[in-house]
Amino acid sequence: MTMDRNNSKSLQVCPICNISITEDGQVNFSTGSPGTRARLYARVCQFAQKPGCINQDSELIGELTRGDGFETGEELVKQMTFSNTSRQTN
Ligand SMILES: [Zn+2]
Repeated sequence: MTMDRNNSKSLQVCPICNISITEDGQVNFSTGSPGTRARLYARVCQFAQKPGCINQDSELIGELTRGDGFETGEELVKQMTFSNTSRQTN
C-alpha cells in the first residue's frame, strides 16, 4: 500500500491548546517564538489536562527543563534573543 502523505509540512493542531506542532517537533505558539513540546507542555498542556490535547505523550515531550516554564522575565528575553540569532538552514 502506498500512501501519498509525504507533504513536507504536516502540522498537528492541538484544539485544546490552540497551537500547532510540525513534523520535526517544533511548536508554533499563537504568540511569541516557536518552541518545543516540552515548553508547550510546561506552559499550556499540563494545565489544560483535557481529552483531545495532542501533547500528553511524555515520550514525545521529553524532559522539562527550567527554561521551559515561566521562570523569570529575564529567561524569556534570553530565549527570544537566542532564537533571533539562530538561523535555520534548509
Ligand atoms: Zn495541548
